[in-house]
Amino acid sequence: MLRKYPIEKVRNIGIIAHIDAGKTTVSERILFYTGVAYKIGEVHEGTTVLDWMAQERERGITITAAATTCFWTPTYSPDDKNQEHRINLIDTPGHIDFTAEVKRSLRVLDGAVVVFDGVAGVEPQSETNWRYADEYGVPRICFVNKLDRMGANFENCLVAIRERLNPNAFPLQFPIGIEGGFRGLIDLLLMKTYEFEGDSGEQIVEKEIPGELKAEAEKRRHDLLEKIAEEDDDLLHRYLEHQEIPLAEWKKALRRAVIAGKIIPVLAGSALKNKGVQFILDAVVDYLPSPVDIPPVKGIDPKSGEEILRRAKDDEPFAALAFKIVADPFVGTLTFFRVYSGKLARGSYILNSGKSHEERVGRILRIHADQREEVEEIYAGEIGGLVGLKDTTTGDTLSDPEKPIVLEKITFPEPVIGVRIEPKTKADQEKMGLALRRLAEEDPTFRVSGDKETGETIISGMGELHLEIIVDRMKREFKVEANVGRPQVAYRETITAGSEAEGKYIRQSGGRGQYGHVRLRIQPLERGRGFVFVDDIKGGAIPQEFIPAVEKGIKEAADKGIVAGYTLTDFEATLYDGSFHEVDSSEFAFKIAGSIALQEAAKRAKPALIEPIMKLQVIVPQEFLGDATGDINSKRGKIEALGDRVNVKTVDAKVPLAEMFGYATKLRSMTQGRGSFTMEFDHYAVVPGNIAQLIIEGKKK
Ligand code: GDP
Repeated sequence: MLRKYPIEKVRNIGIIAHIDAGKTTVSERILFYTGVAYKIGEVHEGTTVLDWMAQERERGITITAAATTCFWTPTYSPDDKNQEHRINLIDTPGHIDFTAEVKRSLRVLDGAVVVFDGVAGVEPQSETNWRYADEYGVPRICFVNKLDRMGANFENCLVAIRERLNPNAFPLQFPIGIEGGFRGLIDLLLMKTYEFEGDSGEQIVEKEIPGELKAEAEKRRHDLLEKIAEEDDDLLHRYLEHQEIPLAEWKKALRRAVIAGKIIPVLAGSALKNKGVQFILDAVVDYLPSPVDIPPVKGIDPKSGEEILRRAKDDEPFAALAFKIVADPFVGTLTFFRVYSGKLARGSYILNSGKSHEERVGRILRIHADQREEVEEIYAGEIGGLVGLKDTTTGDTLSDPEKPIVLEKITFPEPVIGVRIEPKTKADQEKMGLALRRLAEEDPTFRVSGDKETGETIISGMGELHLEIIVDRMKREFKVEANVGRPQVAYRETITAGSEAEGKYIRQSGGRGQYGHVRLRIQPLERGRGFVFVDDIKGGAIPQEFIPAVEKGIKEAADKGIVAGYTLTDFEATLYDGSFHEVDSSEFAFKIAGSIALQEAAKRAKPALIEPIMKLQVIVPQEFLGDATGDINSKRGKIEALGDRVNVKTVDAKVPLAEMFGYATKLRSMTQGRGSFTMEFDHYAVVPGNIAQLIIEGKKK
């Protein structure tokens, strides 16, 4: 078998945007122009191809990072005619509650198109996502969308991108006309005008640049070429000597600069009005990297612990990363994976190298939005889906069993909010368990647990919307009706000092007795470390066979909590002494002794309640700034920075999650609907004493 597309002609890209900037519309238009979608479906009609999950259509936001394959031959790149490229579009969500989705998609894509609303400019979520993309070193191009809207302004948007995101953003084109009069683009490399004609704007007519715009075009072209030349010594030299430099060379140099992150090209258009999307596709092919343009992936040899590099070549050993698990209604478990090196054939064996078990490869799929194409083989640099893999979770490495490698894990934050959930009927009860299990497999930031006292089910996640969507999916996809309680903060407990204690469980009156006796030392650990158990028993004071039982007893007691019934975390427990009885000792007795010892020790170790603190950014018009900051102060918030943007003020703050429920409604009424905010988890911190007291009493009632 041979690959049909040379790896240089593959692009793995994502479209990143603030919610409502037009990511769905752009993606959908891309699928239309590349021939996957046969009819232009608009978001407000609820027929887009990518948003195939019903509740996404209703909410108009894209939740799952599905990967879609399409094909494009650059149209306006004269030197690259008839060169079909394969573009794998990896969908990324815009909403802050889905940070995990954004991060995991950034991990597997090679380049991104960042979409901006031409009226709103750079919105907070674009900034957050831009920083993530910086972190992962993802080359980008920008698309200023919605230029047909009232109040759209390409120049303002460009300035905002330069000031707030990257000073090296350079337009490759600029619009002719704006708002209702937006009718074409001037391309600064081709030095041509492209006007959109026909009823829906789909017909592109190439023209000479109109006389009155010539000077502006020349000036902008000059800035762009100078910048490209600056990044290439040879070109700079020839440019300064006024030598003739062919277009193809400019484009090659620009491509290198974009891939190196030194220039961010900016394009313009209106996805809704079918203006400019073809140029995005050309730019993706021309300037965003193929899998061979990015550095080789790094991993660890699980046997030797040594670092290994894998290049994006078919003859390297197979290595892939599972980046998304979907409970697919047609094929069951569908594992999306990115192949970094080597190739994979149906029927061969792969190793899940983190979990060290082998699996046989069943069907390999390539996904075209809602269609599926079965393939026999998949190659380095590509993205596909595997049907029916067991025990593979998001972030696992799949590799050649003979040449194992573990790629860096994708790390996800712990859930910070939970709600109680109760099935409406007996029939729902059985289905609910299954549904929640499936959903948890898909989403590493979603957890299901049981309340130890009441037996109720609690679901936890990253925000109110996140959990709302889970409940919604349960209803639609699994037909489970459930009652949902009020959102609760995921408090935890920790210790703030070290201590020691003894635990004894001894019953020796008549018949066979019980004997377990342990001595324990505990110590606080850094936030996020969880529970660490250390066995420091010397001279067989406790026989080896009972030690796991002690650890289990400690863990169970920690899960029950000491202060208010929340899990005790971020501490180390060292078992350093104890005693046993030849006849009466048992695992059971040692488990109880461990549990008693931990409870005693924790009580003496200044236990405290900790709560999630959120990073908040609020954007309000000047006249509401005082109200907004006053409100944050009244919420135990700490204001960290105040900023200025075109016509609005920004407030950056850290606020406890417990104070933030219903904030969307409150901010709306406080600012006559003109304020907006984003929020994400930042860290856990100790709850102040008086408030902790209230939480503890509330819990005990
Ligand atoms: P997403 O949340 O980023 O996926 O944004 P959508 O693609 O769902 O678009 C949000 C809203 O903006 C929808 O009502 C779209 O119809 C509208 N929209 C998208 N692109 C444009 C555009 O170019 N011009 C105008 N006027 N509206 C647009």
